[in-house]
Amino acid sequence: MSNDIHDEIWLGTLLEGQARWVVAKTTDLVEEARSRHQTSPVATAALGRLMTASLLLASSLKGNESITIRLLGNGPLGGVVAVGNAQGEVRGYVHEPFTDLPLNENGKLDVAQAVGQGEFAVSKSLENGENFTSMVPLISGEIAEDLAHYLLNSEQIPSATLLGVLVERDYQVMGAGGMLIQLLPGASEECIEKIEEQINKLPEGISKIASESRSMEEMVQTLLGGLSYQVLEKRPAGFQCSCSKERVGATLISLGREGFKEILQDKQAELVCHFCNEHYQFDEKELMELYEQAK
Ligand SMILES: [Zn+2]
Repeated sequence: MSNDIHDEIWLGTLLEGQARWVVAKTTDLVEEARSRHQTSPVATAALGRLMTASLLLASSLKGNESITIRLLGNGPLGGVVAVGNAQGEVRGYVHEPFTDLPLNENGKLDVAQAVGQGEFAVSKSLENGENFTSMVPLISGEIAEDLAHYLLNSEQIPSATLLGVLVERDYQVMGAGGMLIQLLPGASEECIEKIEEQINKLPEGISKIASESRSMEEMVQTLLGGLSYQVLEKRPAGFQCSCSKERVGATLISLGREGFKEILQDKQAELVCHFCNEHYQFDEKELMELYEQAK
C-alpha cells in the first residue's frame, strides 16, 4: 500500500555544517507524469528519476529560476527531458514513452539500456533571463551516477546521490524519491567516510523507503539517521506545467502567416504540449484571430 503523505522536498545540513543535503519524496508527481504520458515501466523509471534529479538541483535556486536536464542518449527512449524550479514544480517527458525492455541481470528495470550512451545536459535559467548549459558524457545511464558525475566535473562539487522509482505490476508508481548530499568546503575525511557508511548501510533502495515511510520525518530519518543532521527548510513539490491555450496560440502566431496557411485549410487544429500531454483545440474562428496577429 502506498502512503498518503504528500510530495515534499526537505533541505538541511549535516555533521556540523560540513555538508548540505536535500531529500525529495516524489511519488505523486511521478505517478502524475506516468498517467499523463502513459509511460511504460522503464520509461516511468527514467522520467521519474530525471524529474526528481531536476528538483534536487533546483533546490538551490531562487525565485523563478529553473533547471532543465536533458538525457541525450542513443537508447530506445530517444531522450528524456525534465524541468524543475525553486518552487518545487516539475514537468517532463520521454520521446518514446512506450519503450519496453527486459529486466536487467539484477531483475530491475533496465534504465541504463533504455537511456543508452550520450550526453547529460544541464541548463540553468536564471532570474535575469540568462541561460547556462553544460554537458558531460553519460557514464552509466542510471541517472543518479550521472548526476553525481555532472556535479563533480561541471560544478566541482563532490556529491552523493540516490534516485529511485518503484513501479507496481499494474504500472502505477508506488514510491519515488531522491537524495543529494553535497560536501561543503572544508569537509573532513571523517565526514566523507561517515556519509559513505550511512549510504552503504541503507536497508533498501530510496524508492522502497519512499513507499514505506509513514511521514517525511521518517523518510529523512531512515536516510540520514546515522548522521547528525538539521532540517532547515521544507517545501511542497508537484507536477506543474507552464503551458496554457494562450501560450500554445503564441507558438502558432510565431509560425508566421506563411506557416499558418496549411493549418487554416483544415479549419481546426489540435496542439499537444510535450511536457504534460495536454491537448488544446482551436476552431476556425480562433485560428483566424491568431492568423490576424501573425506577421
Ligand atoms: Zn503542458
